[in-house]
Amino acid sequence: MTAFTYEPRATCICGARLIPTALAIRRAFAWGSACFRRCEACGSYVQAPQIDRVSLQRWYESDAYLSGATAYSNYLDDEASRRDEARGRLERDLRPFLAAPRRILEVGCATATLLNMLHQHGHLVTGVDLSARFAERARALYGIPVIASDFVEAALPCNSFDLVLMLGTISNLANLDAALAKVRSLLAAAGTFHFNFPRADSLTARLYGSRHWMFTASVSAFMTFEGCRLALARAGFHIVSAAIDVQRPSVGKFVAFSGLRRFADAGQRSRTPFPFSMPIPGVWWVVARPI
Ligand SMILES: [Zn+2]
Repeated sequence: MTAFTYEPRATCICGARLIPTALAIRRAFAWGSACFRRCEACGSYVQAPQIDRVSLQRWYESDAYLSGATAYSNYLDDEASRRDEARGRLERDLRPFLAAPRRILEVGCATATLLNMLHQHGHLVTGVDLSARFAERARALYGIPVIASDFVEAALPCNSFDLVLMLGTISNLANLDAALAKVRSLLAAAGTFHFNFPRADSLTARLYGSRHWMFTASVSAFMTFEGCRLALARAGFHIVSAAIDVQRPSVGKFVAFSGLRRFADAGQRSRTPFPFSMPIPGVWWVVARPI
């Protein structure tokens, strides 16, 4: 048993100063609390003070976390379902950008399911993930090289990627400014940055209120669209397209995130892919380019 350690945080992802008294949502865990403040300028919720990434990583590898009933506790067993999801992502969202062989970086690539598929389609792929466990699994399953590192610290060559992808990752980045600056430095001319994120200014967010799944230890910023736009602009990006995200989750993930948890089935059935892809309310898919 141990405890979270924290880093102070004075500014929002949009650049505005956080007011210490601004609305705080506190979520308690065995190791301590995650505390969110609402930015008065853009409406995003940012974790402040922020649980430092080293203690957070230890938490995700701890028995206290792994023994809890969480949506991702069986992540490593969900590979088949993620393959279906990756196929949909490639066909639906990435195909227009893949007319010729591309150099693709995925940040937070987990077991490299999507990267493997892109590799099979003739693209040159690189992955980065904080988790050494996922990096090992990616190598064992697919032979895809994954750098087990914090993205900002990962050694990667500048101007050398045509696409940078972040799926379910951007809201978790501890230092969004530094991460976006890094994405910009890594992109080659005419490169594009693709990511999804749950919006704090969506109807879903309003319905869930303080019970929203984004108020958790791993989330650094639960962004509004305006907060996201401003963070991108500050890093030298403009948004090319933004639309509701379409995913094909596993039945288990769908149940966990739809608030129907009490009907959840922990067995094999929860790992089967949902029968069709669907728009995910409150989650957006964004493509951005350097200005
Ligand atoms: Zn803000």
